[in-house]
Amino acid sequence: MSTTETEEHKALRTAVAALGKRHGREFDRETLWSEAAKLGYLGVNLPEAYGGGGGGIAELSLVLEELGAAGCPLLMMVVSPAICGTVIARFGTDTQKQHWLPGLAEGTRTMAFGITEPDAGSNSHRITTTARRDPDTGDWLLTGRKVFISGVDTADATLIVARTETASDTNPRTGRLKPCLFIVPRDTPGFQRRQIDMELTAVEKQFELTLDDVRLPADALVGDEDAGLLQLFAGLNPERIMTAAFAIGMGRHALTQAIAYARDRTVWDTPIGAHQAIAHPLAQAHIDLELARLMMQKAAHLYDTGDDAGAGEAANMAKYAAGEACVKAVDQAVHTLGGNGLTREFGLASLITASRVARIAPVSREMILNYVSHQTLGLPKSY
Ligand SMILES: Cc1cc2nc3c(=O)[nH]c(=O)nc-3n(C[C@H](O)[C@H](O)[C@H](O)COP(=O)(O)OP(=O)(O)OC[C@H]3O[C@@H](n4cnc5c(N)ncnc54)[C@H](O)[C@@H]3O)c2cc1C
Repeated sequence: MSTTETEEHKALRTAVAALGKRHGREFDRETLWSEAAKLGYLGVNLPEAYGGGGGGIAELSLVLEELGAAGCPLLMMVVSPAICGTVIARFGTDTQKQHWLPGLAEGTRTMAFGITEPDAGSNSHRITTTARRDPDTGDWLLTGRKVFISGVDTADATLIVARTETASDTNPRTGRLKPCLFIVPRDTPGFQRRQIDMELTAVEKQFELTLDDVRLPADALVGDEDAGLLQLFAGLNPERIMTAAFAIGMGRHALTQAIAYARDRTVWDTPIGAHQAIAHPLAQAHIDLELARLMMQKAAHLYDTGDDAGAGEAANMAKYAAGEACVKAVDQAVHTLGGNGLTREFGLASLITASRVARIAPVSREMILNYVSHQTLGLPKSY
């Protein structure tokens, strides 16, 4: 892996930045989504055979970072092409690939992703959404609840993580999970959603989902019923890398505004940016974002070259570093603007809440520290 960007990546970055600049933070999600889709940015990671760009998560994360840096991140990129597109491309049947990938690659169709449950939260091994087979028809029947699932109202379907009723090691009390992934079209009978009242200024909404004996055809199952965690992490590692991109983009966006303000705003004899109490935290925030991006690029490179195990550790570290860098950058940006940091005109105050998402989701700061403590450092577990 080279630590300098290729000419292709530089060109892609410049082109996406120009698109983002045209839309800015007052962007209309539908318009930006369809423009980005037409330019091939949303399916840049998906196979060419299905209309994608034939690239990887390296390219997709670059696109999301640049849109975020321009103030117009597309959160559903984390879910639709990165998780769902990847999982279907790697493990779907030919029929599933033909049915879903061209639309996901073109951005004309989207898919949400649901793993989080009210009584499981960070402990996905405890999920209880259960899939059982109808012995007469071979159909699947899904029952359970999900929470905080983004974009279900606009997505054509949701990729739901469940456990099968019959597998011997799927008892929630044992804590071991053998996940199965099911495509649930939005208007399937028994699949209900309730919007959660979030204190977030974002175009994408979060939903609580109820699955009440949702009947799905046998081919709604993506991949192998017995494959276990491998298939799930094929989607979760890209999700972490993309969340890092989302966070780095937001951090850059906040920092850019703070730097411009600090260069101009003068309340004594020099602009406030000349005071080191203002300049140094901005410089630190920039360094933290750059370091996080390096780890994100490493994670994307490992993932795209097929090193799932290496990518797992790097994706966690990248998500952690980017989430922390984003929270700090936004905090310092708001502070740099003084009272203007809290006005709607400058649009930074709403990022205080938005930046916290990258610390919580899709896996919290503490769960990543747990992962590194146990998996990397070999320390014992407390839970
Ligand atoms: C805006 C937004 C969008 C989201 N979109 C989606 C989506 O599209 N699909 C989806 O499936 N989910 C989504 N989520 C859910 C998200 O992944 C979860 O919120 C996240 O995994 C944390 O779970 P929880 O909220 O239940 O927190 P909890 O698991 O209840 O954790 C609460 C706190 O306890 C800490 N904690 C828990 N266990 C430990 C431990 N062992 N050691 C130390 N600390 C611990 C956590 O770090 C956290 O700080 C979204 C969340 C948000 C906020």
